[in-house]
Amino acid sequence: MDNLTTCTRCGSDACYVDEVNNDIKTQFCYGCGFQTNSVMKEENEFYQEQISILPELYKDLISKDQNDLMWMPSMINLPDKGMVFANGPSKSDWGWAAVKAVPVTEEEKEKYPIPNQKSKFYEWRMDMTTLKMFRELEYMEALSYISVLPE
Ligand SMILES: [Zn+2]
Repeated sequence: MDNLTTCTRCGSDACYVDEVNNDIKTQFCYGCGFQTNSVMKEENEFYQEQISILPELYKDLISKDQNDLMWMPSMINLPDKGMVFANGPSKSDWGWAAVKAVPVTEEEKEKYPIPNQKSKFYEWRMDMTTLKMFRELEYMEALSYISVLPE
C-alpha cells in the first residue's frame, strides 16, 4: 500500500487514500477503522441520505475532522472471509465485532438458498459462533481474525 497518510481522525499513519477521480477522494483508516470521502459533508444531501439508513451506533459514532469531513465506522462484509462491524450498546461502550465465514456443507446447503435462483445455494455463510469482539483501536487485529490482513 503506497497511498498511506496520517489519519485526521485518530492520528495513526495507516490511513489509505484513494483518488477515485478529481472530485472524489476516499480515505479508509486501518488504524481506527473509520472511513470518509470528499462528499461526506454535513450539508451534502447524498451524505444525509447515506447516514439515514445507518444503525444508531454508527450515527452516534460519526465525527467531523478539521476539514469538515464526516468520518464513520467502516462495515466490512466479504462473503468468503467474514464481517467486521462496529457493535455495542452505546458510543462509550462499543468495539469491533468480527465474524468468520465458513463454507456451506453439502448437508446444510438447503438452508442457504440464493433468493430468486432455483436450486442455487450460497457457498459461504457467516458463522455467528465465531463472533469475537475487539477494542476500538484493535481494528487491524479484527481484520486479521477474518484473514483480510495477515496475522
Ligand atoms: Zn484513523
